[in-house]
This record gives sequence, C-alpha cells and structure tokens, in this order.
Amino acid sequence: MDENGNTIIKTKPRTGARRVLVTGGAGFVGSHLCDALVARGDYVICLDSLFTGSKDNIKHHFGKENFEFIRHDVVEPILLEVDEVYHLACPASPIHYKFNPVKTIKTSVIGTMNMLGLAKRTKAKFLLTSTSEVYGDPLQHPQTETYWGNVNPIGERSCYDEGKRCAETLAFDYYREHRVPIRVARIFNTYGPRMALDDGRVVSNFVSQALTGTPMTVYGDGQQTRSFQYVSDLVAGLMALMDGDDTGPINLGNPGEFTMLELAEKVKEVVNPKAEIVFKENTQDDPSRRKPDISKAMKVLGWEPKIKLEDGLLHMIGDFKTRLGV
Ligand code: NAD
Ligand code: UDP
Repeated sequence: MDENGNTIIKTKPRTGARRVLVTGGAGFVGSHLCDALVARGDYVICLDSLFTGSKDNIKHHFGKENFEFIRHDVVEPILLEVDEVYHLACPASPIHYKFNPVKTIKTSVIGTMNMLGLAKRTKAKFLLTSTSEVYGDPLQHPQTETYWGNVNPIGERSCYDEGKRCAETLAFDYYREHRVPIRVARIFNTYGPRMALDDGRVVSNFVSQALTGTPMTVYGDGQQTRSFQYVSDLVAGLMALMDGDDTGPINLGNPGEFTMLELAEKVKEVVNPKAEIVFKENTQDDPSRRKPDISKAMKVLGWEPKIKLEDGLLHMIGDFKTRLGV
C-alpha cells in the first residue's frame, strides 16, 4: 500500500519494449487484443476482475516473457508504470451489464477515472472502448460521430449507455484539462471466437443454438437491425487508432446491416441448415436499427473491415463446438 491506501503492484522492470496495459484483457475482445500486442512484441499487462472474462482466454500467454496477468477490479485504484492503456474493462452484453447495474456504472465511471488517472500520472496514451450504444435508439441513420444520440437516461440499458457516455466525457475532460493523449473508439456489435457462451448476445446465442439443435430465439419481430464486425477487424482498428494522432471519437464497425431474421437465416446457411427459429418477447429500449458510418475511420486511420459475415461465422464454429462439447 502507498500512503493513500492504494495497492502498489510491482511488475517486471522495463525491458525497452512498449508497456501496454489492457484492462478487460481476459474478456472476448481484450484477449484477442492481447494476442495481437504480444505478437507485435509489446510487453502486455492484462488486468481483469474475471467478472465476465476467463483465464481460459489468455492461458496460452502464461509463462511468456512479455505477458503478465493481474486480477484486479478497475473500480479500485492501482499503480502501474505503462506507456499505453487500452481500457476495455466493462461488462458488454445486456444480460451481464443489467445483472448489477450499479456496479456497471461504477465500472464505467470510477473505473475509467482511475485508468485516466493512471494515464495522467504515467503520461501514457489512453484508449477508451466506447460503444455504438451512445447513439441509443438512433434518429440518424447510418450513425456518424457528430450525432449526439437518443438515449433513455432511466431505462434498463441506461447503466451501460449513460455509463459509457460519461466515460467519454471523462476522457475528453482529462484531455482538455490534463492533456492526457486520449483515443475514443465507438465500437459496433462485434463477434468471434471466445465470446462467452452465456452472454446472451445475438450472434453467440444463434451459433450455440444452431450447433446444439435448439431453436434460435429471435426477439420481437426480428426486423430490428445491427451491423456485425468480426473481432480481428476491430483489433486492427483499435491498434490503428492508438498508433495514430486522432482523439476520436471514431466509429469502428462493419457497415453491413442485417435484420435479426436475416442473421438467423445466415447462421442457418453457414452453421446448420436444419436450425429452427422461435420468436420471443423483446427487451426494453431495444434500438430498432444500427449501422456505422465509417467514413472517418477510413479517412483518418486508413482502416476498414475485411471479414464478411459468412466468413466470420465460419471462423467461430470450431471454437464454439469445442466449448459446447458438440
Ligand atoms: P467482455 O465481457 O467479454 O469483456 C469485458 C472484460 O472486462 C471481462 O473480461 C470482464 O471480466 C472485465 N471486467 C468487467 N468489469 C471489470 C472491472 N470492474 N474491473 C476489471 N475488469 C472488469 O466484453 P467484450 O465484448 O470483450 O467488450 C470489451 C469492451 O468493448 C467493453 O468495454 C465493451 O463495452 C466494449 N464494446 C464491445 C462491443 C462488442 O460487441 N463486443 C461493442 C461495443 C463496445
Ligand atoms: N436478439 C435476438 N435473439 C437473441 C439475442 C438478441 O433476437 O437471442 C436481438 C436483440 O433483441 C437485439 C439484437 O439481437 O435487437 C442484438 O442484441 P445483442 O444483445 O447481441 O446486442 P445489442 O442489443 O447490445 O446490440
């Protein structure tokens, strides 16, 4: 402990490699980001409370010279020496973030403040993984970064949406007040291997259901839309954003737009032609459509997604089969 009661964790001495902190690094996106950073030769400190993440996602790095794992909750301060912070720690799927909404807000607000404080002290670059949810149920389509959004401040999704909006505000205030070099990514629905089987998101649900021969659960009339991005495209976008000069916010997503019924049909085609569909009641405040305008990312980062939905779904099947034991 230091004199303020903060936990001091001694990490390995500087090796000359870039020291990169990935909060939420044992989660779905974070673990793929750790893979790419470790492969690039960075010294990666993966920090995670393991609330929704798992050591299974990162165990292939245990024992490597340029990787360490710290189990820690970002709501508590921590002292580390780093050059860059990728701040992902936050439950991301609706059933996880609604499970303990007050904790979700604490994670987004206090957790982000702690990590911005760490970046300020160490003069590190700081990247926030914000979300397309800041646009709420959007009145502009497709969504550009200049759109301020249409968010219910008191609904069941608000702990996540408003938490992330506040996290963005904090990032820009640390930038304006303390000159912390920030990067803000607004991420649209992302899918791929290592999504938690129980996270209730649509792609993981449909793929698990199709593989186990359970009917795919389409909520509402299935006419709501989303745009699905494969995880390797997102990781490339996040690294390009960190390495560039623009603060953002920058949309990172795949502009291909699908209704949930169209997605179910795609999963049928790729995963199991015999899969059935059942309709279930939809959840509160479900955004009716979502599609990123990625002109800014293309211009500023020279980035655009490469993986088509059918190819991405194919890449998921092996991992899901192994974990489902089918
Ligand atoms: P995930 O749930 O798989 O990963 C989140 C990780 O954060 C988990 O490992 C979890 O244990 C950890 N975590 C949660 N609360 C924590 C806390 N208080 N302290 C430390 N660790 C904590 O979700 P994901 O899909 O990998 O999302 C990663 C980030 O990307 C999140 O910030 C999310 O809001 C953002 N994002 C994801 C998507 C998407 O479609 N996957 C879309 C928009 C934004
Ligand atoms: N959805 C669905 N069936 C499911 C899970 C989700 O039809 O089994 C719908 C959900 O109502 C929403 C869309 O899929 O319209 C995306 O939901 P998800 O939870 O994946 O992400 P988010 O709502 O955060 O975009």
